[in-house]
Amino acid sequence: MLATVPKRPCRACGLGFVPDARNSHHQTCCTRTACVRRRKRARQRLWHRDRYASDASFREAAKSRVRRHRKRASVAQAQGPPTSAAEGRLRQLEHAFLGMAMQMAEESDACQARELMSAWADTGRRGGAGIASGP
Ligand SMILES: [Zn+2]
Repeated sequence: MLATVPKRPCRACGLGFVPDARNSHHQTCCTRTACVRRRKRARQRLWHRDRYASDASFREAAKSRVRRHRKRASVAQAQGPPTSAAEGRLRQLEHAFLGMAMQMAEESDACQARELMSAWADTGRRGGAGIASGP
């Protein structure tokens, strides 16, 4: 007769689970998707907090990332949703050009890439002065 493996309560969800035989001395949580994700988030949060506290360059990069994100979010909020299908398409084109500029210049900062696009537009205007620009 097989010995019954005792169930233990999961630290995350509280439901009983049977620990993996090869890892039973470590395992305190079950393998349900929600619990695995919750543990992973907690592990990553802890890793980020430790790294943020101990690594000055990581901290500066994180702050810069947050500043960029906030700036981008405020620009997006100021713009609001497109008011017409044409405006939506225009924005999509702008995003496509911005993406191309970022890839061509190997630039990860969208603000820098926008400045680059603006300079290209000036160059285009100067170069295209003799070209008919439509009706
Ligand atoms: Zn669980």
